Amino acid sequence: MTNSTNAKNNVKNNAENTARNTARNTDVLISGASVAGPALAYWLHRHGFRPTIVERAPALRDGGYAVDFRGEAHLSVLRAMGILPELERARTGTGSMKYVNSAGRPVAEMPADLFAGDIEVLRGDLSRILYDATKEHTEYVFGDSVTSLTEDADGVSVTFERGAPRRFDLVIGADGLHSTTRRLVFGPEERFVRHLGVHCAIFTTDNYLGLDHTGHVFRTAGRFVGLHSARHNAEARAVFYFASPRLDLHRRDVPRQQAVLAEHFAGNGWESDRLLEAMRHAPDFYFDSVAQVHMDTWSRGRVALLGDAAHCPSSLSGMGSGLALVGAYVLAGELAAAHGDHTAAFAQYEERMRAYARGCQKMGDGVARLMVPGSRALAAFLNRYYRLLPYLPGKNMASNIARRTAEDITLRDYAPQLIR
Ligand SMILES: Cc1cc2nc3c(=O)[nH]c(=O)nc-3n(C[C@H](O)[C@H](O)[C@H](O)COP(=O)(O)OP(=O)(O)OC[C@H]3O[C@@H](n4cnc5c(N)ncnc54)[C@H](O)[C@@H]3O)c2cc1C
Repeated sequence: MTNSTNAKNNVKNNAENTARNTARNTDVLISGASVAGPALAYWLHRHGFRPTIVERAPALRDGGYAVDFRGEAHLSVLRAMGILPELERARTGTGSMKYVNSAGRPVAEMPADLFAGDIEVLRGDLSRILYDATKEHTEYVFGDSVTSLTEDADGVSVTFERGAPRRFDLVIGADGLHSTTRRLVFGPEERFVRHLGVHCAIFTTDNYLGLDHTGHVFRTAGRFVGLHSARHNAEARAVFYFASPRLDLHRRDVPRQQAVLAEHFAGNGWESDRLLEAMRHAPDFYFDSVAQVHMDTWSRGRVALLGDAAHCPSSLSGMGSGLALVGAYVLAGELAAAHGDHTAAFAQYEERMRAYARGCQKMGDGVARLMVPGSRALAAFLNRYYRLLPYLPGKNMASNIARRTAEDITLRDYAPQLIR
């Protein structure tokens, strides 16, 4: 194709055709404005639906960790959304990552591809790019949350913490690992969230080690602490992982979370103590269990779940954002293909996404065990193994597995000229 003009026209015509065909269920409420929610809003609009997003945070959540996309399934959806150039501009550019000893001397190096995939961006930047791509045609409501969902034959009556009650045709929960939509419709979190034996903390701090597009990590039995440069070395992200049974900490009790982190890492060696001190002044301290979501079904009536709310593969899998993005493409596409018939569309969405999500979750299981090994012997073995890895024939095995997992889905051409 010369062809970008032709392609653009085809895209436009196709979206208009789909819109004309979409007779039912056009008003869709999405809970959550991170990755899955805005990506779904994008595709719903393209297919002629009217998305509204409610986000609990008072504004778009910025900062945080880096997320990555890898392989053709992720890239083709990003390309079709037209946001690849912006993501390229926002990419972290992080190179290889170094394992260091307690004195900070590098002892092993892991290739960039393993951690950063084809394109790595800060989650906050990704969220901003998705928001910018959708804000013209999506109603965003910040600082609110759904409190009840009551379904009848024609739609869903929704009440909110702050706003007045409203009616929608469909409701999609894209509100993450601790989804309120899931709790309201499917039951308490404990039924679906499986703790992987590791907790995680992450926050922004100064790049006081002068890291240049790289990260240093120090690993001992049951503990993993790292510092990565971010925003082109202008700042850094500290990352802590530690093995522990599920801790019953309130999600907003930051002082208690910080105290627990300090108990686990004080005197741990390398930069641990300095980073624990920096934690007290961090603008964006994040703490959570590394967990997965397992559900028998992702929809009930007019309500469906998307992204981490439905099938979180865990923060250690490196798959959550790509999975959320692909899920949004499939869910919107199936709704369009079924002309808004949610019963047919939700069934197809699940049918097409189940095996893919399961594959991504398997990655999460394996990575949790390897990144934070429980025993001293396994930690020592892995540290030695990583040192030798560049010289071993299977050196690219882990990144190859990640890539195969990320690509293991055939995307239907809901709009044939969009996905190539
Ligand atoms: C430390 C860490 C590292 C990660 N690294 C990677 C990586 O390298 N690669 C990768 O692909 N993925 C990674 N992920 C995972 C990735 O961030 C998630 O899988 C992805 O963001 C899923 O997007 P989501 O939109 O489904 O959920 P989330 O990003 O969790 O977003 C949920 C949104 O819903 C909002 N919300 C919550 N409750 C309510 C409510 N009641 N009402 C309204 N809104 C609500 C939240 O504020 C949030 O904005 C990582 C995650 C973590 C925590």
